[in-house]
Amino acid sequence: MPNHADHDHPTFTRRSLLKGAAAVTALSSLPWSVRKAFAQNASPLVIIGGGTAGMVAAIFAAKRGARVVVIEKTQNVGGTLVISGGMMGAAGTVFQKRKGIQDSPQQHYEDIMRISAGTAVPEMARLWAEHAGSMVNWLAELGFTIPDDQPSVGTLYDYYSVPRYIWGAQQGRSILAVLKPEFDKYVQSGHITLMTDASAVDLIKDAKGAINGVVVEDSKGKRSDVLGRNTIIATGGCAGNPSMFEALHGVPLYRRVALPSSQGAGFMLGLAAGGYLRCAENYCGYYGSVAQSDQWPSPPATNMMIDHRVRPVWEIFVNVRGERFVREDHPSMSERDRTMDKQPGYRFWAVFDQRILDEAPPLIPSWTREQLLDSFNKHPMFHRGATWTELGVRAGIDPAALQKTVAAYNEAVQKGKSDPLGREHRPVPLLRPPFYAIRSQTWTLKSYVGLAVNENLQLIREDGQVIPNLYAAGEVLGAAPGGRAHTNGASVTPALAFGKLLGEKIIKL
Ligand SMILES: Cc1cc2nc3c(=O)[nH]c(=O)nc-3n(C[C@H](O)[C@H](O)[C@H](O)COP(=O)(O)OP(=O)(O)OC[C@H]3O[C@@H](n4cnc5c(N)ncnc54)[C@H](O)[C@@H]3O)c2cc1C
Repeated sequence: MPNHADHDHPTFTRRSLLKGAAAVTALSSLPWSVRKAFAQNASPLVIIGGGTAGMVAAIFAAKRGARVVVIEKTQNVGGTLVISGGMMGAAGTVFQKRKGIQDSPQQHYEDIMRISAGTAVPEMARLWAEHAGSMVNWLAELGFTIPDDQPSVGTLYDYYSVPRYIWGAQQGRSILAVLKPEFDKYVQSGHITLMTDASAVDLIKDAKGAINGVVVEDSKGKRSDVLGRNTIIATGGCAGNPSMFEALHGVPLYRRVALPSSQGAGFMLGLAAGGYLRCAENYCGYYGSVAQSDQWPSPPATNMMIDHRVRPVWEIFVNVRGERFVREDHPSMSERDRTMDKQPGYRFWAVFDQRILDEAPPLIPSWTREQLLDSFNKHPMFHRGATWTELGVRAGIDPAALQKTVAAYNEAVQKGKSDPLGREHRPVPLLRPPFYAIRSQTWTLKSYVGLAVNENLQLIREDGQVIPNLYAAGEVLGAAPGGRAHTNGASVTPALAFGKLLGEKIIKL
């Protein structure tokens, strides 16, 4: 049985999470006299989280001469940029201009809505498309560069209509390399006060529900109040916290890739302030990965190459019920992945016969044939059977249904009949025993659920009312900008662009 509990972290359920958030609110509404903390003078802006979005918001507010406080839980700023691919999608960049690529925010917006099949929150997608170009151009002014073969239309997932996808040679670190000196400059000038090893544990609310600052806990557990006229939640997501991730998405965190600091603190703070969460349904897994075990989160054992644009597919994909459920060579990667996400247990099996094993290009390109064959002897995700029934029993796929599915596929291929799911590449029927099945399990590296904000990035209540003085940017907004798809650059780009927008324009300092 999968082990969904995680012993490093408290266990959350959706109910306990909401109850916890309510308790935090009660704490923050205690009278000042009983709070042991000390109060500093109110800053124009307090930013919770010195990561991707938070650093940029701080830099742009500091550029305007404001005094900004950045509260950072770890010892260093940078957040997820230290491990992120840092791949960005932006229209109207100097990098496009240099190559004569015509693009516009409108075209970018239309691409986002196409790739996400309309599941992106329109005003968030629009904000991303409209403000990403100037953000990237600012990074370029700071010295950010890209390899010569970029911008591209995309890599693994659905392509943009024009080349606008970029990333630095050192991935996220290339972005951090230009941001950090700029951030440090304003720390040195005294515009940015950086508190490290400091966790925001609560928001300070007045009687009308307006946010007046943040309660901060240091590494020794000592609490203090940081008063601010405006507060930005930029704490990242919860993909480092398996139980919260599962409680909020209804999907286990099958693999933990995000930083341990991505605990979902911002969700708790936003809920406590009266905000609400949306976009859990935008969960969109990555597929092709084979898990090491059934103990979640599990490290990957390896990856199957299931991008048919790179390796035309020879295998069939079946779910636990033994059914084919998707056109394996579907032209839209996003559409394919959305269908995979609907399968029981967020998994499928690539099923094939001995002939495919012998003749097809390797399904696991990073492995030797010996490694692959060995895995069928011992790995829990790799199965072999002399008959389809035996394979089904061993793999945990409905054996009778599997046999029927393969028979129907074979008959269509042999008789030249069209495929009911529309598949076009069907090189051979699956006839020669032994038969094989390799299980793929969904995984992700970020959260999809997020705090609801309006087009000014202000937190809103479910009735649409603004929570005064409180803003959010970055992964804490979830998959609102990119929707239910792997829309290229859908997290890093809005995090940076929205941070810039808040610090430069939106917040009155
Ligand atoms: C391996 C990997 C690859 C990725 N590749 C891409 C990619 O190529 N393109 C893309 O678009 N997206 C990518 N993403 C996602 C993207 O990098 C993140 O969504 C984005 O960087 C998050 O930015 P953020 O500012 O919201 O959070 P972060 O950059 O994580 O910053 C949050 C900061 O808040 C701090 N913090 C947390 N809680 C508190 C608290 N209570 N008090 C004070 N501070 C707190 C954290 O320590 C951290 O420094 C990737 C993610 C991963 C993990």
